[in-house]
Amino acid sequence: MKNIVLIVLIIGLLTTSCNSPKSKDLIKSIDNDEWLIVGNIDVKDEILVLDGITRSIMKDTSYKNFELDMELRTLSGGKGFVGIHTDNTGKGHRILINNDRDDMVWWRMTGSLASVRNLTKSFVKDDEWFKMRIRVEGQRITVKINDELVVDYIEPANPYRSEINHHTLISEGTLSLVSTGNGSIEISRMSIAPINSRDINMADQLRTTENEQEDNIIRLHQEDFPVLDYHVHLKGGLTKEAAAEQSRRTGINYAVAPNCGIGFPITNDEEIFAYLDSMRSQPYILAMQAEGREWVTTFSQKARDEFDFVFSDALTFDDHKGRRVHLWVNEEVIIDDEQQYMDMIVDRTCDVLQEPFDVFVNPFFLPEALSDRYDQFWTEARMHKVIDALSKSGKALEVNELYQIPNKTMILMAKKEGVKFTFGSNNITPEVSDLSYSIRMMKECGLTQTDMYKPKIKL
Ligand SMILES: [Zn+2]
Repeated sequence: MKNIVLIVLIIGLLTTSCNSPKSKDLIKSIDNDEWLIVGNIDVKDEILVLDGITRSIMKDTSYKNFELDMELRTLSGGKGFVGIHTDNTGKGHRILINNDRDDMVWWRMTGSLASVRNLTKSFVKDDEWFKMRIRVEGQRITVKINDELVVDYIEPANPYRSEINHHTLISEGTLSLVSTGNGSIEISRMSIAPINSRDINMADQLRTTENEQEDNIIRLHQEDFPVLDYHVHLKGGLTKEAAAEQSRRTGINYAVAPNCGIGFPITNDEEIFAYLDSMRSQPYILAMQAEGREWVTTFSQKARDEFDFVFSDALTFDDHKGRRVHLWVNEEVIIDDEQQYMDMIVDRTCDVLQEPFDVFVNPFFLPEALSDRYDQFWTEARMHKVIDALSKSGKALEVNELYQIPNKTMILMAKKEGVKFTFGSNNITPEVSDLSYSIRMMKECGLTQTDMYKPKIKL
């Protein structure tokens, strides 16, 4: 009997590692008792249903390079994952299934390569069928959701892994299908096709990898911290495709925002709807940067509410003599008395914080004429006044990469008031930041997952 099992195992291994383009129907294999199942799995009308906490692992097989093709849907908060290169110790990588936008852990959505490339947005919904394709070729794992590439990860020779994730690695192994939620996951199609390893150039793949030991971003993923740049612009020739490629490579999720206001690229509701139509199927969180002070009437609430969140800054206002000033335009900053001008900035900022947006960006910015004495002008009383208004308004506070503001004192004061935070590049060139200032502030100020602002994803 033992010999027969061994022969079957060897044949299994041979068929998966040799040149066999044949795909295997995994739903049939569950019916054929080829899986070890704990929990509730049923095949009804050729649809596989995992209901509640359920764990299944494929017996007597091993896959290394393959393409796993699925069509599935989640029902009423059904969530879970597909394990690859796994065994009964739980080793290997997990590709997550989660379309529950109310989930407290909102940064581990469908398509995430768990703890390595966590995704902050699922663009599929509960109750809707979607396609998921997981491909492993050598050191490279790609995940496509409805044909959109959402993960493209090449595991380096010396990957960074925390203790708890020490076995989250590419190797070889079987598949698992796990449901971790209260709802169900339905799978109408699930097939696997081996990929011939002779076609894979591992040396080429490894040459393109970064040194993860030096990488802050993989550490955040491993610490289960949401890795999101909340303030990215398609500027300086950065296309949405190039931004997506950059995001996949660095592992930083992007919230992409157009500048909306008079004299900016988007000036009316119709342009908002056209923009959002062109971006809905992209793996970005969709934010709006509200410009000028007229934006509240320039755009209807209906149009504004279509964005996942809205942010604005207090860099544009009418000064004490009624002149429109943009604080970053030096010629417009006309200062008679520095202290009075500073008080005006504080007052205007508190007024702006009454407007209906979600995140206060470029916060505590000072014009060039004052910024050389930043800590002098931002007295404790002035900081308190702004943070008090911010906290009362319920808005989140951006830690801004472009200007490296606010400082540690301001962040700690805001944190004490229970203010939530975002990290934002505000890039003016195609190179989006690596969030190094934000990550430094996060560590110095002890910011945790629960301190981060959760966008209200619309689909
Ligand atoms: Zn901006």
